[in-house]
Amino acid sequence: PVSTAYRGRFAPSPTGPLHLGSLIAALASYLDARACNGTWLVRMEDLDPPREQPGAATAILQSLEDHALTWDESVLWQSDRHTAYADALADLDRSGHLFNCDCTRAILGPNGACGDRCPPRQGELEPPAATRITVPATTEVSFIDAIQGQQRCPLGSELPDFTLRRKDKLYAYQLAVVVDDGFQDINRIVRGSDLLDSTPRQHYLQQCLGLPHPVYAHFPVITNALGQKFSKQNHAPAITSAQAASNLRNALAFLQQEAPPQDMDQPPDILAFATAHWDLQRVPGGTAIAAEPPGEG
Ligand code: GLU
Repeated sequence: PVSTAYRGRFAPSPTGPLHLGSLIAALASYLDARACNGTWLVRMEDLDPPREQPGAATAILQSLEDHALTWDESVLWQSDRHTAYADALADLDRSGHLFNCDCTRAILGPNGACGDRCPPRQGELEPPAATRITVPATTEVSFIDAIQGQQRCPLGSELPDFTLRRKDKLYAYQLAVVVDDGFQDINRIVRGSDLLDSTPRQHYLQQCLGLPHPVYAHFPVITNALGQKFSKQNHAPAITSAQAASNLRNALAFLQQEAPPQDMDQPPDILAFATAHWDLQRVPGGTAIAAEPPGEG
């Protein structure tokens, strides 16, 4: 029997330490799971070594613990999952969904598609080639996002034939995330709107692999005063464990949740309060919100 118990997750990439933007993602997914008496998992998305920072994975886990964000079950490491990704690709290949592509960035069209350049030359391609999934031109994906509402994406015309395994042989995020969400029976995904345009691709891939579709909730991403996403590339400051209580308060304020009492200063108490008062409907809509109004400071 298919279990309907809530299973959610936080899936950081170890490209740097936790910052306020990733703490918000951890906290929102944690609170939504805990408020539903659900299971909350942490999955380390360490499948792109060139982008990783040594020590970041351990630092992220430590930081989560210091904020009392404790997870259930054991952490799943994507670096241990290569066989599962290879199996999924083999499945998709057997069902005729894949083709190889040796297009360079310069050849690819604005939507990242190679058109009909590669499919007819399958036998003749010289390595290195990427592995892509065929998305028929008329493919449309619709789903209801629990925060952003009805979503419709003409996937076949806008983001067709996306990559599942890169030329450098690394498995793509879209493949790994779908295989692992399926493997871990994740049925509820709370994450930032920077991933909203990945969801239609993941939805399509779930369908091709015969996996169920989780329910998605994408909260707006926090940006700096210049409107840039909080990220390592934009030098978002790492959060410190000594400030755990105020980091959690800031993250809750961003999510427009009820503020814990002033004198509450222990992370476990703040999380218990926040779980009891969690209201997904209060999370603001839209896709980006500045941490502080421009021009301040
Ligand atoms: N690892 C991805 C990231 O850090 C997030 C994956 C997800 O939540 O689907 O951006």
